[in-house]
Amino acid sequence: MTARRITDTVWAVGGSSGPERTSDHDGIQYLLWDGTDGLLIDVGTGLGADAWLANVGEVCADATPFGAFVSHYHADHAGGAAAAMHAGIDVYAGSVTAAALATADEQATSLERARRAGVYPEDYRLAAAPDVRILPDASALTIGSFTVTVLDAPGHCDGHLVFLVDHYGRRSLFSGDTLFSGGRVSIQAIPDCRLDLYSDTVRGLAELEVDELFPGHGEPVLADASVDIARAAESFRRLVPPPNILTA
Ligand SMILES: [Zn+2]
Repeated sequence: MTARRITDTVWAVGGSSGPERTSDHDGIQYLLWDGTDGLLIDVGTGLGADAWLANVGEVCADATPFGAFVSHYHADHAGGAAAAMHAGIDVYAGSVTAAALATADEQATSLERARRAGVYPEDYRLAAAPDVRILPDASALTIGSFTVTVLDAPGHCDGHLVFLVDHYGRRSLFSGDTLFSGGRVSIQAIPDCRLDLYSDTVRGLAELEVDELFPGHGEPVLADASVDIARAAESFRRLVPPPNILTA
């Protein structure tokens, strides 16, 4: 395992493939790092937490990132919260996500349903993470040379956040499971996947001028990402769900 540098300031430090692979079941875990400061985005299932922490250490050496921001409560993005905190990394999430992680709520997070569908190993359980810190909607934080704006983005599931990062004139969107390359989305047959809210979210994100898109699965878009986002927004505008990453 090893961290994979994607841009000057963005690394993949976990995921289900590539040199950064931590577990077959992990979404992509990103590290933003300017040399002295930075943050982590998403924490994987926890199944590959040791490898993830080693990858982070490879980039940050003895320094500790400001914290790990969790996009949403699905286990492939949030299950490693307890492991991160155990390693001394503060974990931040929206209030809905934090509440579900505090009690390892397998109903709210659809983990039980996903496990029955074969998405996770039969013995995988969510580890309770009671001390997740709350990120208010629209809060803007300065972390080293990064300005991070937290945005509500429901649709894929309740409580989903995305993170807009401005860094020396470049704007990057860390979209979790909200948006993917080519303007694809992630729609599942779960109780809190809400297409009307998904449409509002994506159409709102299309108003932002985003250069780079770093999704929770698949390849990033490293230039003109607004084009990909606009494609999804235009589909929703016509009341047609955009292509689904789970089938296309
Ligand atoms: Zn998800």
